[in-house]
Amino acid sequence: MREDTKVLHTGFEVDERTGAVSYPIYQVSTYRQKGPGEHSGYEYSRTGNPTREALENVIASLEEGRTGFAFASGMAAITAVFMLFTRGDNIIVSDDVYGGTYRVLSKVFENLGIEATYVNTSDLHQVERAIKNNTRAIYVETPTNPLLKITDINEVSRVAKKFNLKVIVDNTFMTPYWQKPLALGADIVIHSATKYLGGHSDVVAGLVVVKEKELAEKLHFIQNSTGGILGPFDSWLLMRGIKTLGVRMERHEQNARELSSWLVTLPDVKKVYYPGLSGHPGHEIQKKQAGGFGGMISFELQTPELADKLLRNVKLITLAESLGAVESFISLPAKMTHASIPEGERKARGISDSLVRLSVGIENVEDLKEDILSALGL
Ligand SMILES: *Cc1c(COP(=O)(O)O)cnc(C)c1O
Repeated sequence: MREDTKVLHTGFEVDERTGAVSYPIYQVSTYRQKGPGEHSGYEYSRTGNPTREALENVIASLEEGRTGFAFASGMAAITAVFMLFTRGDNIIVSDDVYGGTYRVLSKVFENLGIEATYVNTSDLHQVERAIKNNTRAIYVETPTNPLLKITDINEVSRVAKKFNLKVIVDNTFMTPYWQKPLALGADIVIHSATKYLGGHSDVVAGLVVVKEKELAEKLHFIQNSTGGILGPFDSWLLMRGIKTLGVRMERHEQNARELSSWLVTLPDVKKVYYPGLSGHPGHEIQKKQAGGFGGMISFELQTPELADKLLRNVKLITLAESLGAVESFISLPAKMTHASIPEGERKARGISDSLVRLSVGIENVEDLKEDILSALGL
């Protein structure tokens, strides 16, 4: 089955009892038992809920993994994955990582004795050099947020195997439609499903998929013990979103390709970051490991004032955090999504006050261009 068919014909076809084509919402907390401990497979909805399970099967199948897990947010999913580690463990993390991931590592997990080492995971030598006796995992975001740096998942996994480390990939920007980290050698895939998988700015959710039985058992234990689960209605909304993932991702991509090469030609724009541009340093690796380049573009204006002008004056494009929705969003990472990273650290990573991030929606691309031009007063 081809990917665009698979997104809407996977995990679940029709409800056996009624023939319903959309999976029923089991808005329920508990289940009647025939005798003490004799249950239908469902005891209590924190442990398992049919609607959540249907979604978990859909994402497991799309990511070509063994088991899927749905959480109340991307951060809840990421937190559950970090809970696999214990005091004294070290994790190597992409230095251009999502702000919230950096925050939970530095403000929560560091206090619990789990240490993170930040390196540019696009550079394999840096990854290898950072490996210590207590390193247990490599955590990769590719493309990164907001600079869209690319890490070779296959190569990182090869290094990780040598040292018996787990490879964790945040696949939010690509989705399984474009990139399948487990097939490239990773052990755990994470999503902020709030973004492309949901796609309609109406649900906050997180997903995890693992390949091995042992990891699946541990994560289910963590999911059930700590309880950061996704509710039945939100699980249903996500399944609805995923059905159109194929058509949406194709259109995001088409628009982003067109806009990125157009932005390069604007005198107010100093630099454009998009993996689809042939000058992008990760272009070749991205072509090798993913089916597309995605819908995220970052670009640097000539001055912070120009960036401010653009963000204040766009009308069609919404000034908002978040990404991956059908609507286009524009943001200033330094003051918004990445504000929790200390200024010095932020500057060192190349996130300046004139860097703008654009989540390209599925509007007509000509309307997006006109909006940018008029906001810049051109
Ligand atoms: C948004 C985001 C997260 C966090 O997900 P939430 O659903 O907001 O909790 C994690 N990683 C990436 C790459 C994201 O874009």
